[in-house]
Amino acid sequence: MNQTEIRTVCTACAADLTRQDRYRDHDGQYFCLPCHRARLGASAEGPFKEALRQCVFCETWVARPDCHRNRYGEYVCLECRGSGRRWSRRRIVQRRLRHWFVRCRRVLFVLLASVVGLWVAYVVLGKVIELAIPRR
Ligand SMILES: [Zn+2]
Ligand SMILES: [Zn+2]
Repeated sequence: MNQTEIRTVCTACAADLTRQDRYRDHDGQYFCLPCHRARLGASAEGPFKEALRQCVFCETWVARPDCHRNRYGEYVCLECRGSGRRWSRRRIVQRRLRHWFVRCRRVLFVLLASVVGLWVAYVVLGKVIELAIPRR
C-alpha cells in the first residue's frame, strides 16, 4: 500500500482528512476546507478555493505562498518540495501515458478508423471475390 499516506485529521473538528480535501497552513496544521473557510471569517465569502493551490503529491490544499510551481506548471507544497519528493514510478508512467494520450488522441482515432476501415474493406473484398470467382 501507499506508505507515504499519513492519517490526517482536522485540527478544529477532528474530521478524518485522509480521503478528503484538506488544507495545511504554514504551521503544518491540517484543516478540513469548511473549517478553514470558517477560520478565515466572514471575509472569506466567495471563491476561496481559487486562492488555494493543491499539491500534486500529497493533494493537500495550501496557500499560494506555501507552495512552489514546478516546470510542469504543477504546484508542490513546501513540505513535499523540502522532502525532495518525486513522482512514484507508477505515477510517472500514468502521467506520461495521459500526456501522450491527450496529445495523440487524434492520431489514435485516425489510426483506429483506418484499421477498422481496412478490416471492413478486407471482408467486403473477400465476399466480392468469392462471388466473382465461384468455387468449383
Ligand atoms: Zn474541520
Ligand atoms: Zn505536498
